Amino acid sequence: MSVVTPATDVTTATNDVATGGAGNVTENATSDVTRLRRGACPSLPAPMQTGDGLLARLQPLQPLTSEQLSGLARLARELGNGIVEVTARGKLQLRGLTTAGAPRLSEAVDALGTVVPQGFPAEVSALAGLDPTERFDPRPLARAISEGAADLIPSLAPKASVVVDGGGALHLAALKADIGVTAGGEDNALILLANRPAGEIPLDRVPAIVVALLAKLAERGPAARMANLLMEHGIEALRAEFALAPIPPAAPRPPAEPVGLHALNDGTFALGIGLAFGQVEAEALQALAEAARAAGARHVEPASGRALLIVGLSQEVANALKNKASGLGFITDPADLRRRVYACAGQPACASARLDTHATAMRIAALAKGREVHVSGCIKGCAHPAPVALTIVGLDEGAGIVVEGTPRSAPARVVPVSGLAQAVRELLEKEDA
Ligand code: SF4
Repeated sequence: MSVVTPATDVTTATNDVATGGAGNVTENATSDVTRLRRGACPSLPAPMQTGDGLLARLQPLQPLTSEQLSGLARLARELGNGIVEVTARGKLQLRGLTTAGAPRLSEAVDALGTVVPQGFPAEVSALAGLDPTERFDPRPLARAISEGAADLIPSLAPKASVVVDGGGALHLAALKADIGVTAGGEDNALILLANRPAGEIPLDRVPAIVVALLAKLAERGPAARMANLLMEHGIEALRAEFALAPIPPAAPRPPAEPVGLHALNDGTFALGIGLAFGQVEAEALQALAEAARAAGARHVEPASGRALLIVGLSQEVANALKNKASGLGFITDPADLRRRVYACAGQPACASARLDTHATAMRIAALAKGREVHVSGCIKGCAHPAPVALTIVGLDEGAGIVVEGTPRSAPARVVPVSGLAQAVRELLEKEDA
């Protein structure tokens, strides 16, 4: 996942899956009021407390060189507990930072030459501009929106988000966004408001309309989100106000799958590899960075869907690198069961955990017959905030089993951890009967 922002902005916005924990430690990080407000998410200068220490999230402005990726892995080990994550939105997270290590992170990331966006982010696909199936290159539009919205930042919600999707294979339809832009009819863009299709406009009007929509949100102050605006006005009124041409409903797109080999418009390939449970140990990440360097990769880009894209390879080299990545424990097959499972750090990494989430996840995924599974060490649900078919949650009394819910939902059953597999088997048999 890439993000486009103007270089001169002063704030950091993140809009990813919530990662649990409450307090943040911004006090000595910056005195900029705006930055403090938008630092409500776990940005580099404002890491967030979680059960395994402080967590910092970063979304590099530019793709990473293999040396930068290796440097980030080293920092994860030196300043944190060595666990690096790529989130569902394609953002990097370093976990388990100590109170001594966290304040050094921003400077250390700077020293790697990694530029972290400081402005209003407009998110684009990790393959934006390289994907031959894109209907348009979303980056110029995203940059214009980002620049146009810069002055609105102090009045916008910390998690206000804009996604600009050129309509390629790695589309961003699964991401929640206040405003979405995707390919419409010829030379048109489809505007989505709180993920609801609102209407089409010519591509060249996109930046002005999106900035005007953001301004309407900003007028309502920093708590306002597009879903509130829709409830207040109704979609028809917004359609009329912004001259969005109604469109017939479109069929949902098949999910984007970053894992695999992607042909690029410059004749090279990108190898997409997944992180099991969205996490990797620093040592494996460093070994991957070294392998990417040796393979002559142009860059590495975190991608939405808990993946990394290694870009600029020949097909032969990409296949060899895929084997290497698989040996390091990365997911190289989109059909891998772990792609259907969300699991947080769990025991022993997180002090709040009541479960060994990763071991449990593998056992339950094997029983789940392709259902989406979320295994959460406690009710915070750091790994995935949305409901899934089957959730297992660690509780003081044992393991809670939730059907079509989240770790915070009322469990259908609570069982001892030792009896979990049997209880899940029984429950699913009943469902399938
Ligand atoms: S146990 Fe899991 S969900 Fe709970 S705080 Fe720790 S990482 Fe988050």
